[in-house]
Amino acid sequence: MAGRRIEIRGTVQGVGFRPWVYRVAHRAGLVGRVRNDPRGVTIEAFASERVLDRFIEQLQDDAPPSARVVDLRSYPIPDEDLEGFTIESSDAVGDKALSIPPDLATCPDCEAEILDPNDRRYGYAFTNCTTCGPRFTIATGIPYDRAATTMAPFDMCAACRREYADMEDRRFHAQPNACPECGPTLSFVVLRAEDAPKTDPLANASELLKRGAVVAVKGLGGFHLACDATNAGAVRMLRERKRRDEKPFAVMVRDLGAAQALAEISVEEAQLLTAPERPIVLVRKRSDAAVAPEVCPETPLLGLFLPYTPLHHLLLGAVGIPLVMTSANVSDEPICKDNEEARRRLDGIADALLLHDREIAMRCDDSVVRVIAGTPTLMRRSRGFVPRPFMLEKPVSRPVLACGAHLKNTFCLAAGDTAYFGPHIGDLETLGALEFFEDAIERMQTILSIRPEVIAHDLHPGYLSTRYALTRKGVDRVGVQHHHAHVVSAIADHGGYDGPVLGVAFDGTGFGEDGTSWGSEFLLCFPGRFERLATFRPVRLPGGDLAMREVWRIAYALLYDAFDGDPPVDTLPLFRNIPKESIEVVAQMIERKLNAPLGRGVGRYFDAFGALVLSRAISTYEGQVAIAWDFASEDGVDDSYPFEIDPRRTPMEVDLRPAVRAAVADMGSEVPRGRISARFHNTIVGVTVRVVEALLANREPVPVALTGGVFQNARLCQGIEKKLSNKYKVLRHREVPPGDGGIALGQALIADAFLGDKG
Ligand code: ZN
Ligand code: ZN
Ligand code: FE
Repeated sequence: MAGRRIEIRGTVQGVGFRPWVYRVAHRAGLVGRVRNDPRGVTIEAFASERVLDRFIEQLQDDAPPSARVVDLRSYPIPDEDLEGFTIESSDAVGDKALSIPPDLATCPDCEAEILDPNDRRYGYAFTNCTTCGPRFTIATGIPYDRAATTMAPFDMCAACRREYADMEDRRFHAQPNACPECGPTLSFVVLRAEDAPKTDPLANASELLKRGAVVAVKGLGGFHLACDATNAGAVRMLRERKRRDEKPFAVMVRDLGAAQALAEISVEEAQLLTAPERPIVLVRKRSDAAVAPEVCPETPLLGLFLPYTPLHHLLLGAVGIPLVMTSANVSDEPICKDNEEARRRLDGIADALLLHDREIAMRCDDSVVRVIAGTPTLMRRSRGFVPRPFMLEKPVSRPVLACGAHLKNTFCLAAGDTAYFGPHIGDLETLGALEFFEDAIERMQTILSIRPEVIAHDLHPGYLSTRYALTRKGVDRVGVQHHHAHVVSAIADHGGYDGPVLGVAFDGTGFGEDGTSWGSEFLLCFPGRFERLATFRPVRLPGGDLAMREVWRIAYALLYDAFDGDPPVDTLPLFRNIPKESIEVVAQMIERKLNAPLGRGVGRYFDAFGALVLSRAISTYEGQVAIAWDFASEDGVDDSYPFEIDPRRTPMEVDLRPAVRAAVADMGSEVPRGRISARFHNTIVGVTVRVVEALLANREPVPVALTGGVFQNARLCQGIEKKLSNKYKVLRHREVPPGDGGIALGQALIADAFLGDKG
């Protein structure tokens, strides 16, 4: 006989992990004990070496679907004389989970129950078990236990209590366990529908949806606004009321088959759609997809997701059509979460509300994922993923809060060898968003028991996240350069790396150390510092922020630069519909360098070329024209445009003016725009590869990290990776978003390393 202590880290509490360990141990015929501890689950097991080895293999291979083992270590311990295998309480908190798992999509067993007329949970919208249901969004404190959730006001009935106490039951210690006898209930509130139906809440909601109305539906981490995705009038009305011009809406469909009817779904995408995290998956829409074109105007990408709560299953079952499901908010405000708040804020947007009386403790928007060049990449990391831990290769010396960026904000808390992203906060442009940000930080600090001693923030003095950081007292504050943070986030996504990494950080904008806007950076990164080795020649942004929307301005500036102050405006269709006076004003701004700051963001080149070649003057949301430009590309084009690199400058500077002139010449000779787009993409790939090779020519090879929002472009990722991966290890984003939603992790690690270097 031998003994082992097995320490397991990851999402292993509140997901039925200990009963599962118990059953595996029983089957294997070993004795010992299992308990929750502050960091995960600890097992002490006794058997022959061979049985123990098999047991550990099983623990790694087939954990319950919603558990996620990120680290498993085992140590020999002296043999003990025990009988049987037991689930033990941990001394400090009794038999409770010490960490909180993310919210989990309804499991197949629960789904079967709500559809079975003979089951006591038939049609019950709040059915859940240990492998599924709300978690993070109902947690009000720690330890994770019913009393510290918004299920506390609901007393379990005798039948539910029996399930909860029975180790052999699927609902053993399922904290939100409920049934129609004892759990939350639905209600329906009419805001503006005439002759509203009067049956039960679910039937009312589905009846109105079928009539083309907008219904707000209370979900896990907030409200959605729902409408019939096949009804153009309904979708248009929702757009108008929500004041959302053209940004795509997500669509919820019943099952994988229904998803396949709307989009081309790869194997990886099918896995993501059906995963317990249940993110929105960006997939390629079928040309004959039966959804209104207003759902995702002009983009070939469609955001699809499958139902993740029993309420979603029941609602889709009742309406029988795909539903637009978009976060219930106005413009950039945070998603609605409380019933009263929804009544107030959604008046004028929704015709009715489908409510329930289980409170949402923590707002948590849907997560968004896209398979980019074969790699599933999180675009927005929120519901289903938060608060899943990241294991750090090197522990942080003191607890850190990293405040993130200004747009697509998320923050990050790190302590010891673990880091946690907070939920997606969004753009910190409104008071509501700022309140959400501050409140979410407070709550996450509480449920993770982390008291930050170090605060990391962006260098941009105007970011509200930076301003917040500056108000925190009694801490060490570290300002972190935006693109440095991007690169270190990419590195951390691959478990960390001690030596230098060459980071290629391409995005729209980020505050540089010299106070100008960077965004085409080649940074040799060390844990606490970086060297900026190369960048692109900057472009003027006439009108500052206005140029992000009126992208024709950037196109004009690019031409102005490439044609020495004499852009061939008359020959280009883009400028035909722009008033002469506006063009004149922009020309003046550039000439006099007035309100026309320089920016180096690669994203701006995509905006400018897209505007120019596709004749698109306006981008109604960030990245709209850049995405159209990406999807305009023809396949099978190998050539590219010329560019120059000035190696005498430090940092080295890439000059794309020759490419601008060549593209204009192509337009003049009526080269199809798809080919121009492909050549442009090939050019950026070629530039990147050439610069990387030049920078690393006389060095030991180091890994190359591709990061920043521009790397949501699949063509670019694939092209660069293909050319670099035979020489270098290429690091791409996976679980940490490549855009600004991912920088907080990098900020935390850099701040820690920086302070460590100092002292
Ligand atoms: Zn379940
Ligand atoms: Zn009950
Ligand atoms: Fe960025």
